[in-house]
Amino acid sequence: MSKNYGIMSIGTFAGDLAEKGRVMVGEELGLTGCEVSFNCTPAGGFVPFVHAHKLNEEVYVILAGSGTFMIDGEEFFVREGDVVRVDPAGERALKAGEQGLTYLCIQAQAGSLAQATMDDAIMCDSKASWMA
Ligand code: ZN
Repeated sequence: MSKNYGIMSIGTFAGDLAEKGRVMVGEELGLTGCEVSFNCTPAGGFVPFVHAHKLNEEVYVILAGSGTFMIDGEEFFVREGDVVRVDPAGERALKAGEQGLTYLCIQAQAGSLAQATMDDAIMCDSKASWMA
């Protein structure tokens, strides 16, 4: 019987992720509605192409460091805590700043979310060990 969850570790951001550069977690976690990648780009590094998507919008969450984002020719500074949505057609590129750039990218088909948490959550009778 399959479990109702998946769990994995990408390791430490500064150690394991920095060494690998990029870790996609969708397949290992069994994601079915989105793909999530963790990325660590060293100081001054960048992906050497601009890309867009056919169907998927993306959300970039800057976890550490800073860098420069380019979308449709517009360049702007991003740093830890910034969250950027890009439509499928947005032509995008990202370059790490002097401290490098660690970020996660979530991609999902644009327009596919029928509702969100407040309408989708259901309260359950089960309890966790820390609940009285
Ligand atoms: Zn992309």
